[in-house]
Amino acid sequence: MKLTIGHLYPDLLNLYGDRGNIQCMKKRCEWRGIEAEVREFQITDAVDFTKLDLVLLGGGSDREQMLVCEKLKAIRENFRAYVEDGGSVIAVCGGYQLLGHYYDTDDGRIEGLSLVDLYTEQGSPRLISNIVIQNDRMELPIVGFENHGGRTYINDNEPLGKVLFGCGNNGDDGMEGVRYKNVIGTYLHGPLLPKNPQVCDLLLSNALMRKYGTAELVPLDDTQELEANRYIVERFTQGK
Ligand code: GLN
Repeated sequence: MKLTIGHLYPDLLNLYGDRGNIQCMKKRCEWRGIEAEVREFQITDAVDFTKLDLVLLGGGSDREQMLVCEKLKAIRENFRAYVEDGGSVIAVCGGYQLLGHYYDTDDGRIEGLSLVDLYTEQGSPRLISNIVIQNDRMELPIVGFENHGGRTYINDNEPLGKVLFGCGNNGDDGMEGVRYKNVIGTYLHGPLLPKNPQVCDLLLSNALMRKYGTAELVPLDDTQELEANRYIVERFTQGK
């Protein structure tokens, strides 16, 4: 079995170690004997989504998002077809905002991909915090770090989790991130996946299921990851 992971625009969208998410997906495949190929796309490259099984869209500053947004128009229809067909996507922070219709900043509107029915508005102050969220369909809370000026509103979509500590999508409605088909959008940097192997394995199994119709992931020794997760959860939620 083999998965091909597409990393979109790492030269522009790569904040706070987003690349660690790629390494985590690759390693967790290889440890199970699943081949994993990573393809990096620069802003001038064409992207053939029919060749991809997983896509990472990382975080970026407003300036970088503005640059990327022009290019996104060219890939929007193929990206949408991939998502509607159940393609797996992990989009972090600036990348998460770009999944939606737009991100309104003080310097103008950044048009998004409109792949998911959500939108973002810039607010003040920036929302900077450690963060712990709970998804009732996952055994472990999801932990990370957030740093964003944008406030995201996900309309009727399902969030990635409820905020137990931190700010989340907009600091207001107690929700963090979004799940739409096999797309996960989130403000959690960190990077997200090494700290949260349960989220990584969800992405991998969705991608395998779409490609091969079966997705039995051999359990890995996650002792260290689980210990780190527990430490963060206890540190920020105990005694609240
Ligand atoms: N520029 C966006 C914001 O500040 C996203 C930042 C990020 O990716 N960390 O809201």
